[in-house]
Amino acid sequence: MKNVRSAEILCVGTELLLGDIINTNASYISRRLAALGIPVYRQAVVGDNPERMRQAIAESFSRSDCLILSGGLGPTCDDITKEMVAEHFGLELELNQEALDRMMEYFSSMGRNMTKNNEKQAMAPLGARVLQNNWGTAPGFVIEQGDKTAIMLPGPPIELEPMWRERVEPYLFERSNSVIVSKNIYILGMGESAVEEKLRYMMEELENPTVAPYAGNGECRVRVSARAKDEATASEMCDRQIEEIRKTEVGDYIYGIDVDSMENALVMHLRERGMTLACAESCTGGLIAKRITDLAGCSDVFLGGCVTYANEAKEKLIGVKHETLEAYGAVSEQTAREMAKGVRLALGADVGIATTGIAGPGGGTPDKPVGTVYIAVSTEEGEWVKLLNLSPKRSREFIRICAATNAMSLALNLCTFDKN
Ligand code: ATP
Repeated sequence: MKNVRSAEILCVGTELLLGDIINTNASYISRRLAALGIPVYRQAVVGDNPERMRQAIAESFSRSDCLILSGGLGPTCDDITKEMVAEHFGLELELNQEALDRMMEYFSSMGRNMTKNNEKQAMAPLGARVLQNNWGTAPGFVIEQGDKTAIMLPGPPIELEPMWRERVEPYLFERSNSVIVSKNIYILGMGESAVEEKLRYMMEELENPTVAPYAGNGECRVRVSARAKDEATASEMCDRQIEEIRKTEVGDYIYGIDVDSMENALVMHLRERGMTLACAESCTGGLIAKRITDLAGCSDVFLGGCVTYANEAKEKLIGVKHETLEAYGAVSEQTAREMAKGVRLALGADVGIATTGIAGPGGGTPDKPVGTVYIAVSTEEGEWVKLLNLSPKRSREFIRICAATNAMSLALNLCTFDKN
């Protein structure tokens, strides 16, 4: 049995081409193949059309060792995947008695009668390995011929996913001699293009591990992936590369490895120190609270938050002084400072975070254009305020997301002491 060196995925179904269903099988299979260390060269979708399927199968095998097909194994006459793959390999179909028995059992356990056309599903290409289906009716198949392998799985994800885990993975595992481990570096304060410039030589020259950037919502992530014989070795290779990245200018902007998000990094950081958090939000309108409470189980750290949008709310709920608002305005260093301290004291938290700014599109002035945001953090040691001058050309949503992320980042950087 030869190693699988590369794979392609072919999803069969006119519903996919019409956009009626989303091709989750392709992303599922790709992710699982990556974990096995098998590179995926291509994903394709084809309708239930014999000629186009014939072509797609032949093309895939002209490039790759292994083709994984999903869908088109059902009982109706337009389910032709197995027939087309068998034709490609020049194989006849024969009845697989075990598959037929299992199918009859499946139907009787569901209290249903099996119709004659279901027998079609128990027909297997001659010599194929049959992947019995405990989660539905249509079995899957593996055909090996020379260095080519076709793996066919039923379309419904509820069947395909357990079949993948229970039947395909053990089979592929024997045939794959490596695993891939990826680690994500989370970066704030340096844009994607700057990160790319600093790490270009790694991105262009390294083959194992690989280094690739991803950007979105004012943040940047760099993924380091290594392939090795076992997980521990691949993981060490990633760690060594991450250390190299830390030595570059990018290192100053890294806020976590595999932390998932700024909110998660902050909550984990505060939890380790036994500290609690509260927030007062003006321009972010509850976004910080929302993002933090998206993390299940955060109640040991996050006490609560106030959306203090109007000046009166800032005064009444968190004790911002009327004179401060009169003298400096709601969008000011002084107001941000009082908001952070006020919410910390009101909720009895160790850390208070605040945001106040102009998210646009209206409301900007020459002094304080759209994108002017003050973020503040209060602890018992004092208050820290930072002015963000975000681009006024950015959308309201982007400005709010950036303000929330930066406010949490300020808290993450400042709260390095232990409460006890
Ligand atoms: P069945 O025995 O159910 O007919 P099948 O192998 O013939 O299985 P299809 O008829 O192609 O599979 O698809 C059945 C259902 O599975 C689709 O209606 C859809 O809900 C789901 N499905 C098929 N392909 C995909 C895919 N690539 N991603 C997500 N869902 C899919």
